Amino acid sequence: MVNKPKVFISHKDQIPGTPGNYGEDAVSAVYDMLAKSIESIGGIKSIIKPGDKVVLKLNACWPKLPDSGVASDPRMVAALVRYLKKNTEAKSVTIVERASIGADTFAAMKMAGIYEAAVREGVDEVIPLERDLRVKVRIPGADLLTQEVHMPKSVFQADKVIYLAKMKTHKVATVTLSLKLAQGLLPWSEIFKYHKRDIELKIVDLLRLVKPDLAIVEGLWPMQGQGPGSPYKEDLIKDFNTFVTGTDPVAVDAVSSSLMGFDPMFEIAAIRKATQDGLGEGRLENIEVMGAKIDDLKRHFRRGYISLIGMHPKIRTYVSGSCKGCCHFTRTGIEPWLADEDKMKDFDQVDEITVIVGNNKDVDIRSEHNPPYKYTFVIGDCAAEHKDRGIFLPGCPSLSLHGLMPFIGMTDEEIIKKYQSNIPGEFTP
Ligand code: SF4
Repeated sequence: MVNKPKVFISHKDQIPGTPGNYGEDAVSAVYDMLAKSIESIGGIKSIIKPGDKVVLKLNACWPKLPDSGVASDPRMVAALVRYLKKNTEAKSVTIVERASIGADTFAAMKMAGIYEAAVREGVDEVIPLERDLRVKVRIPGADLLTQEVHMPKSVFQADKVIYLAKMKTHKVATVTLSLKLAQGLLPWSEIFKYHKRDIELKIVDLLRLVKPDLAIVEGLWPMQGQGPGSPYKEDLIKDFNTFVTGTDPVAVDAVSSSLMGFDPMFEIAAIRKATQDGLGEGRLENIEVMGAKIDDLKRHFRRGYISLIGMHPKIRTYVSGSCKGCCHFTRTGIEPWLADEDKMKDFDQVDEITVIVGNNKDVDIRSEHNPPYKYTFVIGDCAAEHKDRGIFLPGCPSLSLHGLMPFIGMTDEEIIKKYQSNIPGEFTP
């Protein structure tokens, strides 16, 4: 291979402060690391031309504090905005993001300290994508997104796009790095429609449409285990102090996932598929890796776990035939309780919670569940044949217990009403 994509690994044993409590010394340290990395892959002038409108897509999925490791690290955001303002003649630098289903993006960026960091460094605009205008497009050669999708005008009309992704494991997509960052470009109703088994096809289809000019995967304080928003304290990795930079997002993700202890072409379907389709290079032997050495930094990030079986002695589950979609949202709803001893005291008030997910034709639901216990949830359209056994939460995927867990003490009608307010409406352009 003649032209191997260049990827730079930046690492420092110590970066001052934390994401939520830092000073100028931290921003300067990250700035210097960033400047060296961009220079090594060819320099910013080869990427951004005078007068370019630059859009920077980052990660702020839920309103969480900076030290939770859920969103982009404000030290990195500050350093990157400062770098772009100082070293380019871009017409404008705009930050965009769309938080996870139902969350307010402005609130997420403010709580994570991102908004304040970006404004302090002179960013020109911050656009929450749920408020942006949309452009209707078809994706040539799409495998999954074969219908028209609605892309944000700010991104579609930008001259240059930069992805600043957070390094995290992901219960459904295995990892969430720069390729997966693109799904935040879709409106909620469209992301939700394709959030099932083949999430990786969605991610690769989005890469056919938007190929970032610069991709950075930031792992200053990355997340392992039950990402993308793990509630478990042990899933936060403090002071990994590493980020990965390149112009080929597939190569950047391959190197990033290697640092997390994955075999990118074997374990990360989106990297494999994007490489097969000629959208980038995921084979490490075909990437020119510079900077720190993968073998010196590599660690085994705990993998995300999607199964609902054995979550808690009081939660009985029937999951035959279910796919990742409903399991993901069900775990995401229950886990904040499992991770919090105080919240778990609620469980003292119930005998048992039963969860039926997916097509359960082969499962013999035991007679004592018929009639069901008070808290029996039938989750997802393909479990509909059991809907009379408990509270039916439809959808494909169903948002299931996502945001519903404080249901103890509520009536069935109250639970259903709350559930319905969770469901994203159809997107109307
Ligand atoms: S309803 Fe069935 S197919 Fe749809 S996401 Fe849920 S488990 Fe998967």
